[in-house]
Amino acid sequence: MSPRRKNKKPRAGTRRRAPERGRRRPKKKTCYFCDQNQGYVDYKDVGLLRKFMSDRAKIRSSRVTGNCPQCQRKVAIAIKNAREMALLPYIKR
Ligand SMILES: [Zn+2]
Repeated sequence: MSPRRKNKKPRAGTRRRAPERGRRRPKKKTCYFCDQNQGYVDYKDVGLLRKFMSDRAKIRSSRVTGNCPQCQRKVAIAIKNAREMALLPYIKR
């Protein structure tokens, strides 16, 4: 018998992606804070910070919110500050 395998499995990472036909081009998201030309994120602005949190009170990723890396970091720090000050919850069930 030959040592060659039948039904060769594709190696991890070599799988071809499906052709991107008819796929919608995602809308370009803009960073909210860069738009506002605001150099800081206020941790006391709970209503604004809630927009960057999920309904389970988790911090939304920049992929979802469209924030730039600099502002995303500021938002995350502001949310964590607000949590320590008991303005926002850590978890919500
Ligand atoms: Zn930004």
